Amino acid sequence: MSDDFLPFGRQSIDDDDIAAVVEVLRSDYLTTGPRVAEFERALADRVGARHAVAVANGTAALHVACLAAGLKIEHEVIVPAISFVATANCVRYRRAEPVFVDVDPDSGLILPEAVDAALTERTRAIIPVHLTGRPASLEDLQEVAEEAGLLMIEDAAHALGATYRERPIGDTRWSEMAIFSFHPVKHVTTGEGGAVVTNDDELAERLRRYRNHGMVRDPRELERPSPGPWYYEQQVLGYNYRITDVQCALGLSQLRKLDRFLERRRTLAARYDRLLAELPLVRPVAEGTRQTESAYYLYSVLIDFRVAGRDRASVMDELRKRGVGTQVHYIPIPTQPYYQRRGWQAEDFPGAMAYYERTLSLPLYPAMADTDVDRVVEALAEVLGGA
Ligand SMILES: *Cc1c(COP(=O)(O)O)cnc(C)c1O
Repeated sequence: MSDDFLPFGRQSIDDDDIAAVVEVLRSDYLTTGPRVAEFERALADRVGARHAVAVANGTAALHVACLAAGLKIEHEVIVPAISFVATANCVRYRRAEPVFVDVDPDSGLILPEAVDAALTERTRAIIPVHLTGRPASLEDLQEVAEEAGLLMIEDAAHALGATYRERPIGDTRWSEMAIFSFHPVKHVTTGEGGAVVTNDDELAERLRRYRNHGMVRDPRELERPSPGPWYYEQQVLGYNYRITDVQCALGLSQLRKLDRFLERRRTLAARYDRLLAELPLVRPVAEGTRQTESAYYLYSVLIDFRVAGRDRASVMDELRKRGVGTQVHYIPIPTQPYYQRRGWQAEDFPGAMAYYERTLSLPLYPAMADTDVDRVVEALAEVLGGA
């Protein structure tokens, strides 16, 4: 791999991020100190939610959200067929059943009509995914959820900084909770990290409890009289999903740069849009919902590899040789061996399969230069041959 290899995504770490982390290393608290609360406040304010509860990673955020939602073995949860496996796995952690629904073949986003058809007496929640940073149809989904008495948990791991009807994703206007991930390839990073945001005081309290073993210290929350200052109660079965002050110091420093990162991602995406218009075999994924602004976590395109007479693996390989990293987001979850053994079949998801067969994510991250976009598009034109 050459020095100027372009991966599909990567973190941007500056000297001020490093200084913020070092400062915490020299302080009294490495974990559960002031930085965690500061990071939670800054995140909640940024997305317009009352509460943010930060946890060890985005998957833990999904897990505590499912716990706070009261998910149990008898419940079903609607999940789009195209997402990262964590979106479905968090339901299985509760021994409940994810019910996969098909997505639009050109946007990969959940189809509200498909949700309607998948509802049963046991359906308890919907977990829509804002794939690549484009918000799902929250208003339509909320209508379905309200009618059926369901909770909605947004998997917003791709969508920090996206807007829906001019409101920030994460203000949970149309849902009960939204989760974010701070993995290095996401918009801002804490190394590993995640958070749940909500406007509901009760849910926030439950999320904090599940994050820390189910333990309670607040005298107002205790079930029994406190015998002294050492006293705590474990009232439910929780986990150690705490995030550290070291991570949150990095997250705070990164959040300050979110607007700059987003602007850069949007500028690069617009350049891709313009240059790719010249390549008939390649088009960006469909926008999906109207009145939204993508956070451009990914720049995914659709290529009809059959029409191009090429297979995707060899296209990826040749791009790699030209210094261009690509990735496929995602293999439809119901086709994974674990879920096939639970009875799911690819044939039931024609939209997801059509999206999966054509999708490819091109390099996109804030440190890319405009000329890097030109390089990617040139390489793509060359590899697809005379296109
Ligand atoms: C990244 C991601 C997650 C999980 O986040 P981790 O921090 O890696 O655990 C969940 N859902 C989606 C759609 C993601 O992309």
